[in-house]
Amino acid sequence: MNTPRYIGRFAPTPSGFLHFGSLVAALASWLDARAVGGQWLLRMEDIDPPREAPGAQAAILHTLENYGLHWDGAVVYQSQRHDAYAAVVQRLFQQGLAYACTCSRKQLEGYNGIYPGLCRNLGHAQEDAAIRLRVPELSYHFTDRLQGRFEQHLGREVGDFVIRRRDGLYAYQLAVVLDDAWQGVTDIVRGADLLDNTPRQLYLQELLGLSQPRYLHVPLITQPDGHKLGKSYRSAPLPADQATPLLLRALRALGQPVEAGMALGTPSEVLAHAAQHWNTDALPRRLSVPEADLH
Ligand code: GLU
Ligand code: ZN
Repeated sequence: MNTPRYIGRFAPTPSGFLHFGSLVAALASWLDARAVGGQWLLRMEDIDPPREAPGAQAAILHTLENYGLHWDGAVVYQSQRHDAYAAVVQRLFQQGLAYACTCSRKQLEGYNGIYPGLCRNLGHAQEDAAIRLRVPELSYHFTDRLQGRFEQHLGREVGDFVIRRRDGLYAYQLAVVLDDAWQGVTDIVRGADLLDNTPRQLYLQELLGLSQPRYLHVPLITQPDGHKLGKSYRSAPLPADQATPLLLRALRALGQPVEAGMALGTPSEVLAHAAQHWNTDALPRRLSVPEADLH
């Protein structure tokens, strides 16, 4: 079988609707794939039902279609992948690479989110416990296509992290790594808010013998106060009748050339033109861009 040279993906979490920041990330990922004739897959990261917004899944798919961001093949739903996640958690647990943690939120206060390893050698049973992955006292680094070298010491900066929550739900870090590998993803283009999650994902890939994709983290679009869009307030879904102007705005946010005539184009025409002219050297090499700075 031929290994395709480029498989990209967009992996929204249905905790809210797509907003301008998600459009910028989806667009960058779509363009990076289409510019080289690659595939672009869609994965619904619906692993946390309590945090899901009703109607968000359907609205996300609708918006992508309205904006001309068509994907290849069937949508993958993480809610259908629990067996695969469970098998890996059990394997890691049995190998002693992961362990059960019964610490309460209260016990972990004051550690700045870095797990201090309290349960590491206590041999708790899995029932009513979170499962944490033991991290090595090592730095993991990679070279991002835009942000350059990024390095993080897992022991000092992250600590043993949760792969299955106490309520039985699987953690993003585990699901994302397993599914990117399962779907054959070669290139991950996503928001820079996930840059500091990447070393954890590299460690999981190494542990599980999975190949490492290339990464490109595009600037995160923030509110004027610096907060992530859609995080601290419920941002409105992207309006269906504004696809062309908002795609043009997203292209400008990505430093891509926009010509006057494009304002009259359909979303698909705008996207086709942008894919032909996609230039990663023009991307702003920043972690975030306030939405107010965009025209
Ligand atoms: N589901 C994650 C999010 O919406 C993105 C996952 C990823 O691109 O790795 O923030
Ligand atoms: Zn613990």
